Amino acid sequence: MPGVFVFAEVKDGEFRKVTGELLSRFREVADLLGEPLVAVAAGPLPEGPATRLAPFGADRLIHLDAPELQTYSSQGYTAAVATIVRERQPRAVFFGNTPQARDLAPRVAERVGGTLASDCTGFAFNDGEFSFNRPLYGSKLNARVSAGSAGPVFATFRPNALGMAPVSASEVAYERVEASVPPGTLTTVVREVVRELSGRVSLQEADIIVSGGRGVGGAEGFSVVRELADVLGGAVGASRTAVDSGWISEDHQVGQTGKQVSPKLYIACGISGAVQHFAGMSSSHCIVAINKDPDAYIFTRADYGIVGDLFAVVPILTQECREILARD
Ligand code: FAD
Repeated sequence: MPGVFVFAEVKDGEFRKVTGELLSRFREVADLLGEPLVAVAAGPLPEGPATRLAPFGADRLIHLDAPELQTYSSQGYTAAVATIVRERQPRAVFFGNTPQARDLAPRVAERVGGTLASDCTGFAFNDGEFSFNRPLYGSKLNARVSAGSAGPVFATFRPNALGMAPVSASEVAYERVEASVPPGTLTTVVREVVRELSGRVSLQEADIIVSGGRGVGGAEGFSVVRELADVLGGAVGASRTAVDSGWISEDHQVGQTGKQVSPKLYIACGISGAVQHFAGMSSSHCIVAINKDPDAYIFTRADYGIVGDLFAVVPILTQECREILARD
């Protein structure tokens, strides 16, 4: 029974939100095929892992466990995931398009002779074949690629691009597998992971992102952007110009050379809308632009535009949102 596999990535002791998205979206495909929907996770898992995945409709959780998998390594995780894929022969293996999966998915696909579509924003399943939507050339083109029939199909999906599908909660069978990481596989060992704790929502998985560009004028200018993000429970993004100017750290950068994001709401403050910026956020579900130049290119692609000085507009927006949210 081949099945549809979803790699359940763990970050900061929790399954990533995109894991739930993928499981819920591929439930219907697994039903159509009459095959199990299987979450595959490696290394340390959150407590009660099977119960945590139940709301998303998974049938089974395969937990790859081994001392070598205590922290992520390309070599260890590739060996463990490739082995289970070879043994169980799933029809497809899906990942969130996270930094870890961008490293892992192509390696595993290559090991098992599968095909890979990366950074997908949608999929279709017709006549037993998968096809995927992939933004290309900085999101100027949307390609539909079909997977073909050589080996299992691999794809990575942008977090938030598919969204959660309504599914019934399931009973998830838990299976622990002693993972196979042959001696000598690891040529480097991670001794310690040091994280900068921002206390903020992860940019790639945020439902709402408020971003600032050159228009914020300096590091202190980001305070209005941060305040709106805080009120909305969102994350703070930035254009490369803002990052290169040293106003905010590079992990906030959205775009071709930054992070690719698909939030429900993207609010761009003082950002002109260069193609390299759009490459990272054009799949946002709703784009709001605030810019003092009525001819700014970003207005041609925004769902809503406010022409005005961001230092006048954003605080009003923040105050309005604060009041509305306090009422609810
Ligand atoms: P600008 O283009 O200077 O725009 C600033 C905007 O703010 C203007 O539209 C202006 O009207 C408005 N403004 C100014 N003051 C105010 C105010 N008080 N209130 C309201 N509006 C105001 N860029 C990225 O963002 N991400 C990337 O990943 C990225 N990768 C790149 C990769 C390559 C290879 C190259 C060549 C470029 C890349 N860039 C990237 C840079 C990109 O081309 C643009 O230069 C950059 O996005 C512009 O940033 P910006 O919109 O903040 O600045």
